[in-house]
Amino acid sequence: MSKEVKPQSVELCPLGTAAAPEQELLCIFGTGDLGRSLGQRLLQNGYRVVYGSRRPHSCGPLPQGAQVMSHAAAAQSASLVFICIHREHYNFLEMLAPQLRGKVLVDVSNNLKKNLYPEANAEYLQRLIPESHVVKAFNTLSAWTVQNGPSDANRQVYMCGNSAEAKQAVAEVATKLGFSVLDRGSLSAARELEDFPLQLFPEWRLPLKLAIGLTTSLFFYVLIRDVIYAYVEQKKDISFRIMVSLANKVCPIVSLIMLSLCYLPGIIAAVFQLYRGTKYRRFPDWLDRWMLCRKQLGLVALGFAFLHVLYTLIIPIRYYVRFKIAASTISKIKENKTAVFDTTTAWRSDSYLSMGILGFGLYVLLGISSLPSVSNALSWREFSFIQSKLGYLTLFFCTFHTYLYGWDKFLRPSSYKWYIPPAHMLALVVPSVVLVLKLLLLLPCVDRSLTRIRQGWERTEPDDNSKKTLLP
Ligand code: NAP
Repeated sequence: MSKEVKPQSVELCPLGTAAAPEQELLCIFGTGDLGRSLGQRLLQNGYRVVYGSRRPHSCGPLPQGAQVMSHAAAAQSASLVFICIHREHYNFLEMLAPQLRGKVLVDVSNNLKKNLYPEANAEYLQRLIPESHVVKAFNTLSAWTVQNGPSDANRQVYMCGNSAEAKQAVAEVATKLGFSVLDRGSLSAARELEDFPLQLFPEWRLPLKLAIGLTTSLFFYVLIRDVIYAYVEQKKDISFRIMVSLANKVCPIVSLIMLSLCYLPGIIAAVFQLYRGTKYRRFPDWLDRWMLCRKQLGLVALGFAFLHVLYTLIIPIRYYVRFKIAASTISKIKENKTAVFDTTTAWRSDSYLSMGILGFGLYVLLGISSLPSVSNALSWREFSFIQSKLGYLTLFFCTFHTYLYGWDKFLRPSSYKWYIPPAHMLALVVPSVVLVLKLLLLLPCVDRSLTRIRQGWERTEPDDNSKKTLLP
């Protein structure tokens, strides 16, 4: 009596003729989004693919050319298995320990938030199947990137694991798919890799928070000083100035303060080194974090400078400005008055504009040279010349531009409405301090000591016990 036997595997297309015998067979556990994308890409790159699924006969549509089997059968047929399953379902893998013994298991999993579990997913997997070789990889790529191939922005596959051979096998597959592999060491780095996709613009957080804080507080400052003061003291409604005039006051101030904050940590670091007499002691964490986000601080500052330039360029077409010029001309004609040309004012205005243009030109240069494609083409000396020397020159031009804008308003009592100084005076505090401190650091005696410290010289401390213990 013949009994109908259900085949153990399902072929979505006959493999016999299509696949050459030397094509390597790789296994994927899980027929979800990432499993399907990875399978399609592997097939396109000449691998054979077998899926391990809970429901080999009823799983959803899979890439053409792939086979589907039970987990146990699929695991036995390949030496490398991608575990495209969420960590909370890993328990069943323990039962497959005999089939997965000695196999390379690629853990691609991520978590919804940091520190959700006491150990990294990959370490957990290794604990479940101790006789396998777990490699953490591919988790920083989306299913979309895996399927469509590496783009310029996202071609790195971070990888870690305890077995060099297993990592080599995974690296070969990743390289064949067009990705570049970055080995982050042993499996103890898995938690770090699992935290990568949870990060949201980490270096931009501080600069953006600072920009929002400065913009908000300065906006209320100029609102009180200009609009509310005029309403209360002069019964004038100039609230329309909020949209352009106030915005054009806040943007350059935020930009200037943030630019000077790019250079302040370097000066504080130099003071630390001079005070300690060595460069071999760590800076405080807050200073480290501040230094690490200088590029982002500078780029946000450049964004505000751009807005200032745009707001300034539209001044001549503003209704308020055109009306004021026309009214003043008509009133002079009516009163038969002639305005006298003031050379000092012309000098001041031209110098103010010129400093602004030079400052902005160099600002743009700093921004361009911080782009990876440009900075990669520069030597370290060229990069530091632009970012440091030209950076300080930019700060000087922009600060001078603001001093010229203030001109003699600093001395006029009428500038201090409700005894509050104009906002541009506040803007000058941090950049002026930075420039003065930089000048002090450039004094030959200070500069010489700093250069020696940065070349490794240390001021000997008589009661340095830590060093004594190193001596024989
Ligand atoms: P998914 O679409 O939900 O697929 C998960 C697959 O796991 C299912 O299709 C199912 O396959 C299997 N599965 C579900 N419940 C199971 C259970 N109780 N026992 C055994 N197997 C079970 O998830 P995904 O988006 O592909 O993600 C899979 C893994 O890749 C996750 O760990 C995720 O963190 C990681 N990842 C995903 C992406 C992405 O862009 N999607 C990117 C990077 C990393 P069967 O029905 O065939 O058994």
